[in-house]
Amino acid sequence: MDLYRTKLSETHVLPVTTVRLKDGRQIKKITDKSFLKRKGPDIRGYVQLFFLLITIWIGVDFYLFIRALANGGPSTVMRPPGVEGFLPISALMSVRYFILTGIVNHIHPAGFFIFVAVILVSLFMKKGFCSWICPVGFISESLYEFGAKLFGRNFALPKWVDVPLRSLKYILLGFFFFSVSVLSAEELGSFLHSDFNKVADIKMYMFFANISTFSLVIIGLLIVLSLFYKNFWCRYACPYGALLGIASLVSPLKIRRVEESCIDCGLCSQACPSGLPVDKLGSVSSAECNACYSCVEACPVRNTLNMSVRSGRRGLSQRQYAMLLFGIYFGVVGVAVLVGLWRNSISFNEYLILFRNLGAISHAF
Ligand code: SF4
Ligand code: SF4
Repeated sequence: MDLYRTKLSETHVLPVTTVRLKDGRQIKKITDKSFLKRKGPDIRGYVQLFFLLITIWIGVDFYLFIRALANGGPSTVMRPPGVEGFLPISALMSVRYFILTGIVNHIHPAGFFIFVAVILVSLFMKKGFCSWICPVGFISESLYEFGAKLFGRNFALPKWVDVPLRSLKYILLGFFFFSVSVLSAEELGSFLHSDFNKVADIKMYMFFANISTFSLVIIGLLIVLSLFYKNFWCRYACPYGALLGIASLVSPLKIRRVEESCIDCGLCSQACPSGLPVDKLGSVSSAECNACYSCVEACPVRNTLNMSVRSGRRGLSQRQYAMLLFGIYFGVVGVAVLVGLWRNSISFNEYLILFRNLGAISHAF
């Protein structure tokens, strides 16, 4: 055992031993348990589960709504507005339409508010949506954790494949942004109020209910790749995550490392699913950081790695982060409900007519 003199002060020493990892690297480990940081409860896991259950609830409600449409009633079955959270392109158009006209479209208003809430979370709290709320993020995480159990570890693509592949999500985002930005307010309005947009959620349901073999193969391939590589979909292909990553660059909350008390053990970098070199950075500004707290939980030294607004400040615990996240997300949703803009203005009877003509409703452009 050695005594490691940190950069905090002349007298700040930690009992460490040097261990060699499987890959040949040497790291320092604190040997005296009383110096170790206590592990907190997995609040993020509970929050992820909570949002997964909400998603399942929305899915079941939407299924019952579609069944009511197929049976011609009863008209008392309500469509869950939360389903609009799965229409991000329509929401992007709604936001641009709002910027140009000051009007929240009444076809998918919940989609608009969910989109605004998610952007606000990213602007202030890094890409927390991806690792705390998004059910796809939760499934991706569960898959690579299962893969690690299955194969003993996860894998990483070589840099020359990883870097260009990571740009794929930004290219997709650029394409969507460009396509929406060239539309005038009139064109946006005519799309948003078109029959196609009105039934976009029902079409999405039909896509999955009658999924083609080709789509199944692609989804199967993504699942297999997600077993091997951490967050494969989120890291390489999700344009929504790319947008949130760009928004998160201005976030005042960041992972910050107190260099003076850091023992250079490298555990934070090893734990980071985004492969960020946390142990070499003063603060993590990267668009790839999804505020998952894995590095914070891995760091053995108290008050050395935190999610905070300023270096050296006591960071936000997972519990406090979760409360802030709920505050922003449900605050925006609450405003939408209070001002009567959460549910759309389409009646059951109008849905019924649209549903009967679903096959004939095609893209507005
Ligand atoms: S481990 Fe830390 S740096 Fe890496 S993505 Fe999670 S919060 Fe960000
Ligand atoms: S910040 Fe990273 S390298 Fe430094 S002590 Fe914590 S886990 Fe180890």
